[in-house]
Amino acid sequence: MRTLLPLCGVVLTATVVSAQPTLDIHHIDVEGGAATLIVTPARESVLVDAGWPGNGGRDVGRIEAAMKAAGISRIDHLIVTHYHTDHAGGVPALVARVPVGAFYDHGLMEAPHAPDFAANYQAYMAAVPQRRTLAPGDVLQLRPAPDATPITLRVVAGHGKVWSRDSGPRNAKCDSVPAKPVDVSDNARSVGFVLTYGAFDFFDAGDLTWNTEAQLVCPNERLSAVEVYQVTHHGLDTSNHPLVLDALAPTVAVMNNGAKKGGSAATVKALKALPSLKALYQLHRNETTGPDDNTSPDLIANPEETPDAGHGVTVRARKDGTFTVVNHRTGDTRAFAAR
Ligand SMILES: [Zn+2]
Repeated sequence: MRTLLPLCGVVLTATVVSAQPTLDIHHIDVEGGAATLIVTPARESVLVDAGWPGNGGRDVGRIEAAMKAAGISRIDHLIVTHYHTDHAGGVPALVARVPVGAFYDHGLMEAPHAPDFAANYQAYMAAVPQRRTLAPGDVLQLRPAPDATPITLRVVAGHGKVWSRDSGPRNAKCDSVPAKPVDVSDNARSVGFVLTYGAFDFFDAGDLTWNTEAQLVCPNERLSAVEVYQVTHHGLDTSNHPLVLDALAPTVAVMNNGAKKGGSAATVKALKALPSLKALYQLHRNETTGPDDNTSPDLIANPEETPDAGHGVTVRARKDGTFTVVNHRTGDTRAFAAR
């Protein structure tokens, strides 16, 4: 196991430090892409993915708005889960406008595949001055909370490999879920991690796909329960392996789908069936499926594609494992108990 110490300093903004700081996870709406801004109780920031390029700087604008609302002016760590356009495409625009301390990704590509992938990968590499590889088992040690509670980001997947911990129990259900066709795309190489603050855990695996997900739970369980699950791959059913959902047993799931991207009916159904799940939030209503294949309307941040206000969903976690979730469209804030 490698422990990666941050290279960068801290921005402390007195006006936003409260007596009981929370670990805040802002799910920014980037229209079926990914951009998740984490701000720790020590006011350290981690941005996971940077949305799409183009669209008049829409996604970097939304990231900047979320940063401003969070009271931060720089990104201390930028993690790009993989090199697809909806995750890495926004990086060049971001670095042109926002100071970034350190860059992390799943590693160098030996042979980029499709032409659009190669162009996107090259644009990312050109925009990033110095990058570090996150490999399964790595731990990014973030600054502890003011009361010294550690905050860690443990990498469980990357570059097509998974955390090799094999101390978990053998999973008797492995034969019950068939594999899917081999995924040669960069989705299968996504970085996946567990972020831990005291008794609170958050799981984000980018667009990790079925067969690689399966390695996280078969033949041995390598995952433990989490409070909040960022629904993998925008909710597509080529991801969200049922045994991973079982192992994570999330209290809340947040799906960063678009109006017509992600949010597969099968994934929504599987999430709703989890005994642990208290709420499924969606950044968009999936307009291609019906009401039964979406979450309840009050948990949707953007019910209509047009006009699209780009509302997000924010999780605020305490070290005892309790947390609240805000739907920024309505301002509705729900509290959730610790496991
Ligand atoms: Zn994606």
